[in-house]
Amino acid sequence: MVTAITGSGYGDEGKGKITDFLAEKADIVVRYQGGANAGHTIVNNFGKFILRMLPSGVFHSNVENVIASGVAFDADIFFSELEMLKERGVPVPKVLVSSRAQLLLPVHKLQDKFEEERLGENKFGSTLSGIWPFYSDKFARKNIQISELYSENLGSIVSRFCEDKNIYFKAFYGVETAVSYRETMNYLSCLKSRLAPYLCDCPYYMNDAIKQGKEILLESQLGSLRDIENGIYPYSTSSSPLAGFGSVSAGIPPYEIKSVISVVKAYNTSVGEGPLVGELSGSTADELRKRGGAQGEFGAATGRPRRMAWFDCVSARYGCMLQGATELALTNLDVLGYLDKIPVCVSYKTGRKITKNFPQTFQLSESQPVYEYLKGWKSDISECRQYSGLPKEAKNYIGFIEKEIGAPVSIISVGPKRNQTIFR
Ligand code: GDP
Repeated sequence: MVTAITGSGYGDEGKGKITDFLAEKADIVVRYQGGANAGHTIVNNFGKFILRMLPSGVFHSNVENVIASGVAFDADIFFSELEMLKERGVPVPKVLVSSRAQLLLPVHKLQDKFEEERLGENKFGSTLSGIWPFYSDKFARKNIQISELYSENLGSIVSRFCEDKNIYFKAFYGVETAVSYRETMNYLSCLKSRLAPYLCDCPYYMNDAIKQGKEILLESQLGSLRDIENGIYPYSTSSSPLAGFGSVSAGIPPYEIKSVISVVKAYNTSVGEGPLVGELSGSTADELRKRGGAQGEFGAATGRPRRMAWFDCVSARYGCMLQGATELALTNLDVLGYLDKIPVCVSYKTGRKITKNFPQTFQLSESQPVYEYLKGWKSDISECRQYSGLPKEAKNYIGFIEKEIGAPVSIISVGPKRNQTIFR
């Protein structure tokens, strides 16, 4: 059976933790989208880890971890993460990479950096991981697919790639030679032998696994509101974190995804540029940021402080609708234990209108949150392992979210560690 684990917000909902937890009973964990621009934080018996490229099933030696075709494959990060796991005593994981995935190359990162510098004050707040140059080259059909490393035509493919890049860099940034053919060929010839043991023909591999009845988890990066099609464009990412894209990237039929677990955080965070309705400031934001996540709400890959808001039913409902959430995993519930009453944004005031629907991106900056206040539980629930053991106010908070979103909360996370999880 195929289950997708996705985020319903702006990312950083705790998908890594939930995937690591559920991978215990899985055969295959597939990372289907994005690149090394965001990290999944995982805290388990091996320690605390931040994975930017590897699927979150790598801590389970029985799990096959697949990087699917739709991922912006950064080979440097891939190998450095494998090395890091080895150094930290994690048994060598089983990892496969789709030969149809494309290579994110150092020149993509350079382009990302030059463009942010060119944009100055109007910059996107990119993590400089080369993601948008990678995806724009992908849709312009200029990237190098991993399988092409083994093609006799590699020389002419690389020559065309370098020529295009150099014309672009000269025109946009006045740089004479951004990328050299010889260096690129050397880099790729190293990759060719290093990558060979990991490659798989992803669509065949995945469809065979489905026929064999394997338990498969599809894992996304970022969340619905960063979706390139339906998110806060242009402050979206350059790919689709939606469960639907999981089937495209893995090469499997959409109807095989039987369950979609949308991970929602008990409050709202966003990192980088773009609108965030109800963004908190001052000591309210600082307090929540300090208490949130594993060690405060700071970007896993970048260390940037996350922007904070209370739980937002409008964006979460929209995000879950886009994912097709069949159930919810509610994370970071423990974090709210310090509050007497908990504000929850139930609708937006956009201009003169009160709406429960997520507005167009340009209307978000003129939208104000309309809050309801729920009673806090004023206690530490991080040791709680049974739903029945939760305070009634916490149960009420969970019930409120279920009703607002229209899907059941089946997993409740009360801390960053794998075992701080309640199955309902
Ligand atoms: P992801 O990219 O969706 O996996 O999320 P990140 O790893 O970027 O951010 C989630 C943060 O919340 C990390 O610091 C996690 O360790 C942490 N986390 C996950 N679940 C919980 C939870 O239930 N409680 C607390 N306190 N932290 C959590």
